[in-house]
Amino acid sequence: MTELTEQLLSVPVVNDLIALRETIWLNDKVATAARGLLRTGLTRHDAEDAEARLQRFAPLLAQAFPETAARGGIIESDLVPLPAMQQRLEQTAPVSGRLWLKKDSHLPVSGSIKARGGIYEVLAHAEALALGAGLISLQDDYRRLLSPEHRQFFSQHKIAVGSTGNLGLSIGLMGARLGFQVTVHMSSDARQWKKAMLRACGADVIEYDQDYGVAVEQGRKAAESDPACFFIDDENSRTLFLGYSVAGLRLGKQLQDNGIVVDASHPLFVYLPCGVGGGPGGVTFGLKLAFGDNVHCFFAEPTHSPCMLLGMSTGLHDGISVQELGIDNKTAADGLAVGRASGFVGRALEQLVDGCYTLSDETLCRLLALLDETEGIQLEPSALAGMAGPQHITANRDYQRQQGLGPERMQQATHLVWATGGGMVPAAEMQHYLAHGKRLIAS
Ligand SMILES: *Cc1c(COP(=O)(O)O)cnc(C)c1O
Repeated sequence: MTELTEQLLSVPVVNDLIALRETIWLNDKVATAARGLLRTGLTRHDAEDAEARLQRFAPLLAQAFPETAARGGIIESDLVPLPAMQQRLEQTAPVSGRLWLKKDSHLPVSGSIKARGGIYEVLAHAEALALGAGLISLQDDYRRLLSPEHRQFFSQHKIAVGSTGNLGLSIGLMGARLGFQVTVHMSSDARQWKKAMLRACGADVIEYDQDYGVAVEQGRKAAESDPACFFIDDENSRTLFLGYSVAGLRLGKQLQDNGIVVDASHPLFVYLPCGVGGGPGGVTFGLKLAFGDNVHCFFAEPTHSPCMLLGMSTGLHDGISVQELGIDNKTAADGLAVGRASGFVGRALEQLVDGCYTLSDETLCRLLALLDETEGIQLEPSALAGMAGPQHITANRDYQRQQGLGPERMQQATHLVWATGGGMVPAAEMQHYLAHGKRLIAS
């Protein structure tokens, strides 16, 4: 054991991480939303710019992916209440207020939260290339980019990405549709069906026996040696981050449409599964822009891959990996199997994330089966990580006091679990998850 890891053992929560115990860490650096947002170095204008770009591309998306046409080419997900799941959870521990689900799991095109960031970065890159070459102007109908000449233009350009699966899928599907040559560097935990789907759409898939960090590193290297290749950097990209942030901006209207009030007496708690951090980080940025101090954001990670909790609680961010503490980064939650957090996200959100917690693969799989049983909704294991949050927060009187949230306000709370993937999992694979979860519940 190194000197550093010995020092880290004095941070109480680190001992829970090493023992693979489910735990929660509350961020004592959390500041007002206004101050925390300043620290990100990004602004409301940046997020609104991303939304405007997605609007410009909406007609193209509606044509390229007919499943997006119902929303006019805007890739957005439903918000649904979970009364039966809430009742079921309350058999073990109470949940104050009301439980809701944000179904990014069923986003069109690629069936995960990556349909936000991944697709957005491909579009931003395509737009920059096309504007630079004088092929379009900002006022044009972008559908023309789907024509054979433009496809020919994009086919001279390459895109590379390292991924545990879902990011590769989003970038591969979007990139290939525009004509780009896409290479996806896949970690060992990526599912076979995701690789098959990517190859079917014409992307190159390179497989590694190692984890996510290695796949990203290899992708970065391959791209560096080729000037025609654009590398989408899941660990550091501001563009990905801003693609995700749009979700937060749009949520206000969606809550309103569902009659949900968010203000000082009606707090909103949001629980976000976290891998490298870009997805939950970007969404948190957008949520704080939209709801200020009335939204409280928590990141959720598997006990075997608690990279963001480790990075934020020790202040070391990407300066430490879970492997350095002897944690194996092996989990059934493939989108979350990340050993080293994004340094950019951890630092940028140092004062905005309210806390992080961990849960075991067994808990994820139980929750997966419970959600199916009570609400008939099927998600992939990663996407259940948020579901343990409402009970944690309802039980934590210290946190509530510190936030000025008495029992009355807690009764008026909305708990929003962000479901991040599952919509495209093949039926046989889903049956396998469900059977496993049901066995765990029964035992
Ligand atoms: C990628 C992913 C996440 C987390 O996003 P990060 O940007 O890696 O933190 C969560 N759930 C699923 C299903 C994912 O694919």
